[in-house]
Amino acid sequence: MTQTQAATFPLSHLLPMTAGLSPSGRLAIGGCDTLDLVREYGTPLYVYDMETIRQQCALALGSFRAEHADTDVLYASKAFLNRPFARIVADLGLGFDAVSGGEIAVLGAAGVDMGTVYFHGNNKGLDELALAVASGVGRIVIDNLLEVALVEAAAREAGVTQGVLIRVSPGVDGHTHEKTTTGILDTKFGLPIVTGAAEAAIKAIVDAPHLEFRGLHMHLGSPIFELEPYVAGVEVMAEFIADMRDRLGVEVHEFSPGGGFAVAYLGEQEPPAWSAYAQAICGTLKREADARGFALPHVTIEPGRSIVGRAGVAIYTVGARKEVPGIRTFVSVDGGMADNIRPAMYGSKYEAITAERPFAAAEELVSVAGKYCESGDVLIRDIRLPRLQAGELLAIPAAGAYQLAMSSNYNLAYKPAVVLVDNGSARLIRRRETADDLMALDIG
Ligand SMILES: *Cc1c(COP(=O)(O)O)cnc(C)c1O
Repeated sequence: MTQTQAATFPLSHLLPMTAGLSPSGRLAIGGCDTLDLVREYGTPLYVYDMETIRQQCALALGSFRAEHADTDVLYASKAFLNRPFARIVADLGLGFDAVSGGEIAVLGAAGVDMGTVYFHGNNKGLDELALAVASGVGRIVIDNLLEVALVEAAAREAGVTQGVLIRVSPGVDGHTHEKTTTGILDTKFGLPIVTGAAEAAIKAIVDAPHLEFRGLHMHLGSPIFELEPYVAGVEVMAEFIADMRDRLGVEVHEFSPGGGFAVAYLGEQEPPAWSAYAQAICGTLKREADARGFALPHVTIEPGRSIVGRAGVAIYTVGARKEVPGIRTFVSVDGGMADNIRPAMYGSKYEAITAERPFAAAEELVSVAGKYCESGDVLIRDIRLPRLQAGELLAIPAAGAYQLAMSSNYNLAYKPAVVLVDNGSARLIRRRETADDLMALDIG
């Protein structure tokens, strides 16, 4: 693909980096014609572009290490995970943030180095903590006071000393959706500074014989399109770091500003570049460390969406059309809220492109509906598109994060196949579910 093509291809900054025209004039990703992929694997189909994953991992590592060499990148597994994908991400030099026993089990089965796994969650189960400790996860990020005792008990039982961070709730608003803002005081996540809970947890950890206090973590929410919340959050955390040193004599060796880095879903969106997030976070941390006289801690960032969001494209087949004159025209596709709950859950907005004629001009305003039994199952409300024909393919960009990860079998839908494309070749990394899969757990 030439530079000109890349610059002028519709939605090129939302689609994977390799998106372009196939020799037959259709949307190609990773050098694979989307119609060829669909003929082989069916729809709905999730196509992930290896080159975009590679580049985002490299950008995450490179941008942050350019600002602060002692930085590691942990991929937030909950954005999208299975075994082959875990291996890909590990090979690209990232560790992992896990939030459940299931994610730890998958990471373990994938053979990733469990020392690079950090375990999060506001109500980790006893079995999950035992599994985490036994698996040798690098850090457990303690979220509340009860958990100090639970992790201590799990570590004692296993006969190990467990390195821990605490998740601090800094009281900073990430200015994102109310369901996904996590750094404010009124959230279930983390130990607030202002109530004294964070300090109490540190004291309890220092007193626990099988725990080693390593440092602090925050996560402000997702997606965060502004830099200012990170700056404010790091400032609050830095003040707390200095405070804990002065009053408890406790040193913070490690600091995580979490994830939440945004990706563009809509044409007009322009999220900050990796380098801008890195400068805001590491620059503030360095300035604060200098001013307050503490050593720069090891930094771990936890991007999920920004690693995989743009790499994924959801491809659907167009079906029925319903015109309600003067009100709305619905065009239905063969997926919907079972594979993408985000529009129904968060009011998330998307763009779409006719995969077999990417340059076709918009002709009408429609709403793209899913096929499931809820009126709220509308993937895109009001979008200008060419007049869609039944049987043609519609591609939705920026589909790589929190879609399959949050997918369900609602209406006993079969979860879609996932194909990884790279340099003209396609590799199925998850097959489409079948009726047998749906019934596999039935007893009697
Ligand atoms: C969800 C989550 C992340 C990742 O958020 P993204 O927006 O996908 O980058 C990172 N850290 C923690 C603790 C999380 O819960």
